[in-house]
Order: sequence, then C-alpha cells, then structure tokens
Amino acid sequence: MNVPFLDLSRHHEPLKEAIASSLREVLDSGQFILGPETEKLESEMAALCGAAHAIAVGSGSDALLLALLALGVGPGDEVITTPFTFIATATAVTRAGARPVFADIDPQDFTLDPAAAEAAVRPSTRAIMPVDLYGRCAAWGSFEAIGARLGVSLVEDAAQSIGAERDGRRAGAFGDAAGFSFYPTKNLGGMGDGGMVTTMSSEAARRVRLLRNHGDAGGYRHLEAGMNSRLDAFQAAVLRVKLRSLRAWNAERSRLAERYGGLLRQALPGLEGGDGPLRLPAAEHSVFHLYVVRARERDALAEHLRGRGIGCGVYYPVPLHLQACFSHLGYKKGAFPEAERAAEEVLALPLFPGLREAEQEEVCSAVAAFYGAGR
Ligand SMILES: *Cc1c(COP(=O)(O)O)cnc(C)c1O
Repeated sequence: MNVPFLDLSRHHEPLKEAIASSLREVLDSGQFILGPETEKLESEMAALCGAAHAIAVGSGSDALLLALLALGVGPGDEVITTPFTFIATATAVTRAGARPVFADIDPQDFTLDPAAAEAAVRPSTRAIMPVDLYGRCAAWGSFEAIGARLGVSLVEDAAQSIGAERDGRRAGAFGDAAGFSFYPTKNLGGMGDGGMVTTMSSEAARRVRLLRNHGDAGGYRHLEAGMNSRLDAFQAAVLRVKLRSLRAWNAERSRLAERYGGLLRQALPGLEGGDGPLRLPAAEHSVFHLYVVRARERDALAEHLRGRGIGCGVYYPVPLHLQACFSHLGYKKGAFPEAERAAEEVLALPLFPGLREAEQEEVCSAVAAFYGAGR
C-alpha cells in the first residue's frame, strides 16, 4: 500500500461545490484585489486568533517582512531568530535591511530556546522572532518576559501554527505582530499564495495596511515607500470556505498524532527510554502542521519508508546559519549544535486530514520493521 505524504484532494473534494460557488460570486462581483471578500477574511482571522487586527497580504514571507517593517525594524538593526526553520523567517529580516542573528533551539520541541535568545541580545537588537515550528507554539511566556525586560519587539512566525493554543491564547496573539502563510500545504491553505499579519497594535496594523499597498493613503498620496503585497479576492473566497473546516481539521490532526503515538509505542516498546532510537513529538500546544519524529538513523529510515511507498520529508535538512545565502554572516559548523543535530535527525511522517487508519497502520508497521530484527 502506498501512503502519500500529503493529499490535498482529500480536503478539497467535499468542499468543491462550496468553493466553486464562492469563486463564481467573486467573478460576478468584479472586485479582484482586496475588497469585501478579503475584509471578511480579515475579520474572521482576527476573531480566530483573538487579535485586534488582521491584514491580508500576498504571502507568509511578506507577512513577516511587513510585520518587521511596521515595527520599525530596518538597517542597523539585529533580529534574533532560530536557525531551524524555513528560509523565509530569516530572509524577512534581510529584506527589511536588518541582520539575522541566530540562537540555538530547545531540543525538546525544536523551537527557539528563550535563554539562548536572551543571551544573544545586544544594544543593536530590535526584535526577537520565534517560530511556532511544526504547528507548536514557542515558549511565548518566556519571550514576552524577555521582550518587556530588555525592550525588544517580538514577531511571531505563525506560518505553521494557525489555531494552536498555549496558556489560553492562540497563535497570532503573541508578541507585537505575527505572520501567517496560506501556502497550499499549510493547515489553512489557499489555491495560490497568500498571507496575513495579525497584531494587537492599531499603529502596527495601520502601517501594514499602508505598506502592503504602496504606502497609499488614498488618491495617490504616498506616505511611505511601500510595496505591492495584497491578497486577491479569489484566494480570500477559497480561504473563507476552508476556514469553516479548520477547527475540525486541526482536531483530526491531533487525533492522528495521538494515534501515531499509541501505535508506535505499542510496536516499539522501550521507545520512550532515555536513549531509544526514535523520539515522538509532544502533543501539547500543537496543531501538528507536521508530525515530526527524531530518529538516530534518519536517512536510512527515510530510505526504508520510501522503498515501501511511504511518503516522508525532512524539515529542514540544512540549518539557516549554514546556508550558502548567509555565508557572509560568518557562522561556522558547530555554532548551534542542537539545530545541527535536529537537521540530521528529524523526519516528518504522513499526517493530514483524510489520512486513513489503515494507511497510518502501514506507516507504523514499516517503522517497526525498520527497528525490528535486532536493531
Ligand atoms: C511557509 C512558511 C513561511 C513562508 O510562507 P509563504 O506563504 O510560503 O511565503 C515562513 N515561515 C515558515 C516557518 C513557513 O513554514
């Protein structure tokens, strides 16, 4: 049995008619950029996150850039972030004209380690940008205490964590501003690019609204040198239909994650021991954008699974401080041992709404077979 890593058609099939009729309404409205459909999505996103403001933009990458710009981050500033994330987290910093400064991750959950981030703060530090990696909220209580104590802004990369909760709050409501992505594979994915900034600050919201549309205050009066990063109404229409299923999809992801835990622990007793060959992810604070295990023989396990027709993926194989595009920052191998070890050991197994129980069992028996036979 082949098991796909991700099959979006299983999300879209039951919604096809609803999406088609929403798209037809946009077609008839003749309003294709921003407009009422996008404004409705903004209100729904603000309500979902418990944020005061939500501003729809062209992509998740732009959402992070615009959040930084709105908070005044620019040339001469440093932004502390994790080296174990998608490239767009750090290129948002360089696109703002600032310098990314990396700090190591917490090996338990792969998110930025608050103590390491705090130790990297210098007079030129303007912001800290933790990432809710794999759908799990970072240690926001600690970051907010550090931000308040040291007077640095906080930007949340919530691209993977829509709907996740920690300490009674939702992703998008932490820090000074947050960026979401609607890339098709995200927990709430469009049928094209899209993103959203959320914030509690009316001033930051005002600036993002200006900057996403050429700094235009109306009538071609440009208050800031901005950009074109606007969500289109077709994406907003698709996203609004899909948003109605998000809560159920995230709950299904959590159920599937829990089931993986049960099946894998049963198949591999002793797994949880201090130096077992495989570590499973913690369940709390997460909407399981990805189900990522930690495997000492990661590459061999991935090859074994692929050989049996099971999809899997490595997020991410090269930590950002060792990427060619950041060689000028001067980091060497060994600078962030936890991030480097994670890059060698993480493996994402298939987990998406619509994954069938038999498929999940197939994945687990393939993993068990890998570790069986006297390994
Ligand atoms: C997807 C993603 C982004 C970028 O979002 P796009 O919509 O693809 O531009 C940024 N950060 C993280 C952690 C992501 O997963």
